[in-house]
Amino acid sequence: MSATQRRSLPDRRRSREIFAKAEKVLVGGVNSPVRAFRAVGGEPLIIEKGSGQHLYDADGNALLDYVCSWGAILLGHAHPAVSAAIADQAQRGTSFGVTTELELELATLITIAMPFLEKVRFVSSGTEATMSAVRLARGITKRDFIVKFQGCYHGHADSFLSQAGSGLATLGIAECPGVPQALAALTLNVPYNDLNAVEQIFAQHKDKIAAVIVEPVAANMGVVLPRDGFLKGLREITRKHGALLIIDEVITGFRLHYGSAQQIFGVQGDLTTMGKIIGGGVPVAAYAGRAEFMDHVAPLGPVYQAGTLAGNPLAMRAGIATLKELSKPGLYEGLNALAKNLAAGLQKALKDAGIAAQVNSIGSLSTIFFASQPVTDYTGAKRSDTKLYARFFRDMLQRGIFLAPSQFEAAFVSASHTSADIDRTISAAADALQAIAAQPSA
Ligand SMILES: *Cc1c(COP(=O)(O)O)cnc(C)c1O
Repeated sequence: MSATQRRSLPDRRRSREIFAKAEKVLVGGVNSPVRAFRAVGGEPLIIEKGSGQHLYDADGNALLDYVCSWGAILLGHAHPAVSAAIADQAQRGTSFGVTTELELELATLITIAMPFLEKVRFVSSGTEATMSAVRLARGITKRDFIVKFQGCYHGHADSFLSQAGSGLATLGIAECPGVPQALAALTLNVPYNDLNAVEQIFAQHKDKIAAVIVEPVAANMGVVLPRDGFLKGLREITRKHGALLIIDEVITGFRLHYGSAQQIFGVQGDLTTMGKIIGGGVPVAAYAGRAEFMDHVAPLGPVYQAGTLAGNPLAMRAGIATLKELSKPGLYEGLNALAKNLAAGLQKALKDAGIAAQVNSIGSLSTIFFASQPVTDYTGAKRSDTKLYARFFRDMLQRGIFLAPSQFEAAFVSASHTSADIDRTISAAADALQAIAAQPSA
């Protein structure tokens, strides 16, 4: 499709009406801020259903989906095996408030895929997983400070809301009102990929740091890869100072291969958090580690954490069905090969249009940063031209392609995407970028 053939989504009337009504009863019309599309302009989507790689809005427009529920949907929408498992469980009951064999089954699948984990505790959101892992690290070490990296996002618990990525980066919220100063002061932020800064902070707060928490591939300031030796360096520094290393795999767990990013980078954290993919689009998350650490959690230990719906059978069935599908041979090879073609195609389209940008990618994660220098940390990510990103986003959406509605989020390819989808995306991007280059200030 050439630039001249660019069409608007034919009719958005019903979506518009629904959103206008939603704004009256839901804060900002949404239940999670980035869904309001504030950073990119245009109208928020109202989705009626999803199937495979496509979403269908309330007006029946099809969209090729690269948001995939922020990475939770790896198999594609309404995957038959996952939908069947959920439907079957719905007939048997959705929550019992006591243990089922299903929890054992999902925990076993996870510990087989990530053999360095011995025990798992299921919770219902990534936020709960990271919040609980930090509490556990503090309980074990009897220390109060935590170190996190600027631009990393670990959910919305109070301790993580300073200089965070994801929606806070999108909305430009550096510090969140409502977080007590005394608590915020216990979170130490350092630049991603900067081991010297980590060393310094440990020197300044000797024997007071409970844990370092990190995304092994940062994917909430846009995708930023760990430098060679960065994660191993964190392992050495935390060990030397008696602090725990929490690897937040809420996005990366089962994203890059059938297992963790830790296995790819040859590093093992003391605690691992997961979410998104392990629930296959239903609320499931977990924190896990060796028994010597996890046994501090109640009822075995004094570090309290609980959940009425934690490990509920509906969620477990969705997770089990998802992991079983993901473990089929060749799935990740195919997915990662497609995503590699996408990244290469976008790179070429940018070059052909003469637009300075960086395509950061690994596996099925990628981000186009409209920045002239390589992006290796939050400062670099924030140098991007977010107006240009917004224009690119809107142009792609009009071509029926749904990218992340923020410069500071990843694009996710799913196992349902086809090479025809990738070709179509690259050619749409080429047209959009040529139009931008021809009229930079439009
Ligand atoms: C999404 C995310 C979280 C938070 O998970 P929720 O389920 O949204 O609470 C935590 N850490 C990382 C790395 C994430 O990407």
